[in-house]
Amino acid sequence: MLGLAGFVVLAVSDYGGELEQAIETTADLVGCPQCGAVAELHDRRPSWVRDLPVAGRPVTLVWVKRVWRCRHRLCEMVTWTETSPVIAPRASLTERARREICRRVGEDGASVAAVAREFGVGWRTAMDAVREHGIPRVDDPHRLDGVEIVGLDETAFRAASATGSTSFVSGIVDLSRGSAPARLLDVIDERSASALVSWVNQREAGWRAGIRTAALDPYRGYASALRTALPHAVQVLDAFHVVRLAFAAVDDVRRRIQHEQTGHRGHRDDPLYRIRRLLRRSHDHHSQRSWARLLAGLDAGDTHDEQLARTWIAAQDLRLIYHAPDRARAEQQLYRWLTYCADTDIPELHRLARTIDSWRTELLAYFDTGGVSNGPTEAINLLIKKIKRVGHGFRNFDNYRLRLLLHCGVHWNTVRATPIRGRPPRSVA
Ligand SMILES: [Zn+2]
Repeated sequence: MLGLAGFVVLAVSDYGGELEQAIETTADLVGCPQCGAVAELHDRRPSWVRDLPVAGRPVTLVWVKRVWRCRHRLCEMVTWTETSPVIAPRASLTERARREICRRVGEDGASVAAVAREFGVGWRTAMDAVREHGIPRVDDPHRLDGVEIVGLDETAFRAASATGSTSFVSGIVDLSRGSAPARLLDVIDERSASALVSWVNQREAGWRAGIRTAALDPYRGYASALRTALPHAVQVLDAFHVVRLAFAAVDDVRRRIQHEQTGHRGHRDDPLYRIRRLLRRSHDHHSQRSWARLLAGLDAGDTHDEQLARTWIAAQDLRLIYHAPDRARAEQQLYRWLTYCADTDIPELHRLARTIDSWRTELLAYFDTGGVSNGPTEAINLLIKKIKRVGHGFRNFDNYRLRLLLHCGVHWNTVRATPIRGRPPRSVA
């Protein structure tokens, strides 16, 4: 029942709703570590440690430790206390409880404070267990095996800091097919080319050679870093980030028109402010009702030569380029799109077109690589937001990185319980 190697249960008692299990080792014949003579029992001393909960009740183990004595006349060893690899000396937790704390915080994404409460230990003790059992998992070089496509992203990886200042963090994600769900390979606490180059250079040559494709967020720093560090990898600007740029332009136009009309920032009674979310939706995700609301909002607020509607159409068209059947068709569509933007009198569209034009090679590379998508990065972003919420913001980057990688970058291979339905009964005679 105990499942701790080398231990047996002496007694189990209820102690204020908690279980207290008295245990001892199975050792009865012990030799002196110095001279090898048979030792004699000198004393018994209890020591208390927390173990895994049983049936929802916290468990304390009372290990009745044996103190041995050497009776050999010439031996310098007088007395010593027995030890066990499963309960470290002076520990307040068994090793398996520490491993479980790390799994609860890592795999389950529970907060350190909550798990510490569950186990009846302090925050620091729980965090030490997370570090000690988690860091080897994160540092395991085989964790990065088999990566062919990497995705780079910063936006959602911003570290929520206690001081409120936003620092950029670059996330590196494994987008290789067959690696579903996508894995977080690492996070770097800077949004800089040199930080990315040094991260890549720390990997083995074989790993670097295996990277065929890199999906980028449209940030020049990443592109130039990868050209130096992974010169053979094809760089792709994926649909997700391009669409985000396009809808940022829609937002900019909406805010400008709103401000020109009302002289203030968005207010809940402004017709354009009220459709700000509908404007970000792609055209095929509208219901009849939301479509009608969108048009009514534009009718009421888009008085500026329909600049907002025209920007919105450009954003939808840019997104559709990614649906082109082949590269040649995409190239034509892109050319038409750039011309359309240049012919307007909307400064936000001019700026967007300039940006997209400067990323033309990476955008069209999408069609040479069989459609790499940074979409899975978004799934990871959601997990990351959860971890940030659970952690109430992180002051310490190393803790932040450890928690993120334990949650999104490590395979836990946790043994799942066998479903009991449909299994032949074993204990029924
Ligand atoms: Zn001895």
